[in-house]
This record gives sequence, C-alpha cells and structure tokens, in this order.
Amino acid sequence: MKGGGAADRLLSCLSNPIRLNIVRALIKEPAISFTDLMRRLGLDVKADTGRFGYHLRMLRDEGIVNLNSAKKYELTELGRRVADLILTLEDAAGSARSLIVRTSRLQMEPFNRSKIAEALEREAGVPRRLAVDIAREAEERILRLNVKYLTAPLIRELVNVILIERGLEDYRHSLTRLGLPVHDISELFKAASKSSCPSFLYRRASEAVLAEYVLLKVLPRRVADAHLSGDIHVCDLPGWPLRLSSIHHDLRAWIKAGWLQKDAKLSKILRLLFRLMSSFETHVGVDQGLAFFNVMISPFAAGLTYEELREELRFLLDELHWSYVSKRYLPPTSSLTLELSIPKHVASLDLPNGRTLGDYEAEARMVLESLLDVLREGPSMGGVFSSPQVIVSLRSLHPAEEVEELLLKAHRVSAAYGVPTFVNLTAGWQGVEACYSAFFSRLGSDWKGDWELDTLRVGCLGEVVINIPRLAYEAAGSDELFMEGLRDLVEVAVDAFKTKRDSLIEGLSQGLLPLFSFPLEDGQYLRLDSCSFNLTLVGLPEAVKFHVGEYPHESRSASAFAIKLLRALESQLASLSDETGLRLQPSLSPSEDPSSRLAQADAKKFGKSKLVFQGSKERPYYTSIHSSSRLMPIQLYERAKLEGMLHPIAHGGHVMLLGVGDVTGEALLELTRNLFEGYGVGSLIYDKALTYCSSCRQVLNGIKARCSSCGASGFSVIHLGRHSPVYKPSQLWSSEERDSIIHAYRYEL
Ligand SMILES: [Zn+2]
Repeated sequence: MKGGGAADRLLSCLSNPIRLNIVRALIKEPAISFTDLMRRLGLDVKADTGRFGYHLRMLRDEGIVNLNSAKKYELTELGRRVADLILTLEDAAGSARSLIVRTSRLQMEPFNRSKIAEALEREAGVPRRLAVDIAREAEERILRLNVKYLTAPLIRELVNVILIERGLEDYRHSLTRLGLPVHDISELFKAASKSSCPSFLYRRASEAVLAEYVLLKVLPRRVADAHLSGDIHVCDLPGWPLRLSSIHHDLRAWIKAGWLQKDAKLSKILRLLFRLMSSFETHVGVDQGLAFFNVMISPFAAGLTYEELREELRFLLDELHWSYVSKRYLPPTSSLTLELSIPKHVASLDLPNGRTLGDYEAEARMVLESLLDVLREGPSMGGVFSSPQVIVSLRSLHPAEEVEELLLKAHRVSAAYGVPTFVNLTAGWQGVEACYSAFFSRLGSDWKGDWELDTLRVGCLGEVVINIPRLAYEAAGSDELFMEGLRDLVEVAVDAFKTKRDSLIEGLSQGLLPLFSFPLEDGQYLRLDSCSFNLTLVGLPEAVKFHVGEYPHESRSASAFAIKLLRALESQLASLSDETGLRLQPSLSPSEDPSSRLAQADAKKFGKSKLVFQGSKERPYYTSIHSSSRLMPIQLYERAKLEGMLHPIAHGGHVMLLGVGDVTGEALLELTRNLFEGYGVGSLIYDKALTYCSSCRQVLNGIKARCSSCGASGFSVIHLGRHSPVYKPSQLWSSEERDSIIHAYRYEL
C-alpha cells in the first residue's frame, strides 16, 4: 500500500495548524520570503524562528513546499493539489455556504464560489487557474465583510476590484455590469411624471444601458475615449449597432413589396402608410422621410374632392404629430417633401397601374394645397405641427402663375407658423436631385450618379459630431495644428463608421432589420451601399473666434478660415471615401445636439475663462447649425452670405435657421428668392417663437405670458420654439435651448 502510506504521511504532515496555515498563506501569496511568511502567520520573527523553521522543513521534506532560486518559498505542484484539497474540504464544511445571494435572475441561492470562477471564465475568458484563484480571494473578502445578505451585483463589483488591483483591467471591461444608479432612475421617474409619459422612462432607462454597452464593447477604444472626453460626440449611441440615422422612403417600392395596394383608396393607403412608418421606427433613430410625398400619393388622390382630400391628409399629419408628441418628442420623427410641380425625372417614373407619375400633375398640386391648409389649421390637438417636418422643394423661383400662387401660400403659412420649410434645388451645386431629412441632413445625386439609387431607399447611417472649439484651444493659434487635430478626429470618426457599417451588415444578414432586408426585384429594400455617414461640426463661430480673434461674419479673414476648415474636412472625407468605400459627408446640421455637453467638457478641461461660448458660465454651450450665432443682431445679408458660402461645402447637411418676427407671406417669398437666388443658401427654416393658448386655441406670434386674444395665462399658455429644426414646447426646453430660443435675434422685414 505504497500510495496509502504516502497519503498517510501527507495527512499527518498537514494535521498541524501552523503547517496548514503556511499552505493557506502560500495559496494567496505564491512566492514569499521566510520572514514575510512568519509575519503573515502572526508569528514573532525573533522568538518563533526555531519553531517555524521546524514546521517549514517538514513541509519541504514532504515535497509540499519548495525554496525557489529567488530564496522565496512557494507551493510545489503537489503542494498546489494539496491546497486545492484543503479548499475543497473547507468548502464542504462551508462557512460561506450559509450566505444567501440575491441573483440577477431575481432568485435566492446559497453562495457558491465556483459560480464566480465560472463567470470569470465564461464572460471574460479568464484562464481557469486564475479564475479559481480570484474566486477564492473574492470569497475571503466576502466572509470578512460579515454580511448576512449578498447581492450578485455586489459580488461582481468586489471581483472587479480584485481585477483592478491585479492590473487585469481588460477582463473587468467584459465582466462589469451595465446599469444606472438608483438615483438616476428616481430622476427619470420624476421627469416622466412631469411630462405624463411613462414610456419616456422605459426608453431612457433601457437606452442608457445600451449606450454604455456600445461605449464598452462595440466601439473601438479610441472612439469611446474620444466620445467620453468630449473630442467628438457619437450620435444615437444606443442605436449605433442596429439603427439608421435617417431614411428616405420610396412609396413605389412599398407598393411593389405588397405593403400598399396599388388600387386601394387614399384613406386606406394613408392608414397603412402610418402603420408602416410606425413599424420602421425600430430601424431608424432620427427621421423617416417620405420623398416626393404629394407626387407619390397623387394617383390615389384622383377623383377625391378637395374637402375629402384635406380630411384624409389631416388624419396622417395628426397621427404623425401625435405619435411624436406622445413619445415626449423623442426621435425618430418624420418628414414629408413636397413638390410644387413634378420634376421631369420624377414625372417619367412608371407606376404599377401602367401610367407614369407625370400623369397626375393636377392631383399632386391639389395634395400640396390641401396639406398647406392642414399645416395652417394646425394639429387637431392644438398648437403647431412638430412632426412631420414639411419641406417644400423649390426648383424654380419664378414659376408659372398657378404654381406661384402655391408658393405664396406656402410662405404665408410659414410666416405665421414657421412651417413649411424650404429647400433650394435651383442652385447648380444641388445637381439633379437632393433629399433633405427633418434635421436637414442631405443626400445628393452625386454618389453613383443615378439620382434614384443615390437618394431613395437610402439614408444617413450614422453621425459623429466634432468639437472644433476644442481643436482651436489646443492649436493655440496655429493653423497647422488645428488642421492636424481635425484630421486625427476625422480618422477616429471613420473608425466608428466602420464598426457601424459592419454591425448593420451583420444585423441585416441575421434578419434583425426585416423591413430593410425585405427582398425586392432589384435587391433588398435598403440600398446600403448608397447610405451616407455624416461628420458634423459644432461650435464653428466659437472656434473661428478663438482662432482668428473674430467671428466668421465679422471679417473676411474669419469667414475665410471657416471655409478653409470645411474645405479641409470635405477633401479629407473625399479621399477617405475613395479608400474605404464609405459615403462620407461633411455637415453643419446635427441631428442630436451635443453642444452643451462638449462646451461643459471644455470648461472643465481648459477653464471657463479660456472658453468662447454662448449661454452662461454655469451652463455654457456652443453654436450648432448656425455659422454665426443666432443671438447676435448681425446684418441679415452678412448672415446669408456666410450660409450661402458654406452650404455647398457642407453637402451632408445644412440649414439656415432664420429667426423672424411678425412678417407677411409676401415679404418672406421675396426674402426666399433673395436668399436662394442671390446667396445660394441651400435650405431654409423661417424660425418663429410662438405662444399657443389652449383656452381659445390661438397661436400667437412671440413668447407671451398672457394670451392677447382671450387674456388666459398660466398653464393655458404654452410656448413653442426651436433650437433645432423641430419645434418643442417650453416645458421640455433645456437651459441652453431656452437661452437660444428666448434670445435668438429675430428679423422684422
Ligand atoms: Zn387665448
């Protein structure tokens, strides 16, 4: 019984508390000197040396402990197996077993150390031996804490601390828990109750977790770091892996797909259309656009009276508005693009009924006119339409008389309510076709050279905003450093775009975006190859002011620098497009406004005294969308000149958001002609600040505390304004939005 004799000897060697404790100490500290080991055991280095040396020798004689070349004691292979045995025995006797853990699956379980080791292996790929070792250490610490009631998150955090202490941070990234502090959720409850919108709470809470996940696991580290530090802002983080920013739909494809019936009545078509747009909401983060809306639905409008048509269209607009308002103005929103007359390249498009769209010119015009009436009347629930964004494409500024009437009508509605908005397709640089979204990102017909392939069933996949004031602070006056900084951040952003494209391709192939991957004769619904990525600059006026000493509108050299910046961005994106195959576009119109987050990050980094900003020292923000601050009383045509120079370069997105006071439609039409013809402005919003009185249902010009029509005040009076292209009521304005809306300079014509 040779084996039996060896086991007897081992057990007898271990049947002494000092020797057992030596083995335990060596589990925790794999290599340790004689005196350190004594101290670890609580022995007196002078008085106990002889006794300790005796026990250590016995362990060495049994081959459990070994003295290594560095004169440190360590466990031998046999020693490690003995140690495992000791730990197993201790587990079986189980002091830790009496602890109960509340798990993340909302169950109660007895504590089990091996679950920690399994999680380390499974979730973070920690090697087995290391995982077991960390689990043991975690167990010891838990026992020392002397808690009666453990939760799984607490254990996880404890393990994370051990990982950090051991310098194993990469494992921690995989093992960490994503979630919100209790306080943040309490705040979300408060915000939800203020707006009477519980779905706001659910969505914000779940998206916060997804955003953390994207920063930790989806985006390359340098992208996540640049976002968190405030160099850039990755828009729609929670949707980064699986959502498009925007899409321009093609209703003809919906008919071909069988989603809309070609011979249905308009009422049914519009109901289906709304339902489909609701279904698409899971696929889109910011905006769904219906391009050529009045032209596309004109065949269904044939035979309807003007009144019938208006009622049908009211249904769609009311639904789109309500679905946006009821989501507490959280995107996605929607947009409808309208044509004054059918452009040639659209008129020749075939319809499933054997005719062409051009056959319905009169109907298209009637749809446009009825829609303008619905816009003028406002939503049935009162106020002004926030969604859809209604955009009128102008292809001629001096059209025939009957079209001229409609153009004037559109401007009259816009003069009163700030909607519809206008796009200038008369400018040469716009090419054959250009589609704009609700937030004025743009797709032209210059990618594959076929306007249909370039603009329809195509969208903006994602957007990254660059904090250019920070580049200015860091460049300290050097053009070269400024441009170098910009080039570096563009490369970071393109890294982010690549992950998004890959992730969307995977999502499409896995059937996670079934409406986009829906097969049609010419391929899937979404034309992924033509989709764009936008690189958007915010804080242009502030960056130029810091760098050159003047705002872009103040001098020729300042505006020249703004142009130089955008040109540099444009040409770098063009060459990166060639290199990567991605449709990369420079833009000035962000779909999500990070300007206060970025300004506040800069205030922390550089100190408030260095910053050029808008707003207050407590709540600084940068200018977004505008190339000169909207707060300054700048000569209108100085402003227009600058926008007109920048829009063609920022062809991925731009809009002139022009504050106006009490104006007439006639004056606005004249102004539109001037801005489009004389200055080449690409797109235009006449921005109004409005007061809606819920007592008498009037919309009044300007921000008023009391209704000038019926005298109501307090809760009956709601203010409406825009910091971005979309209206929001005052109870949802952030402090910078309030500042920008209240103090915006508004032109009286
Ligand atoms: Zn009133």
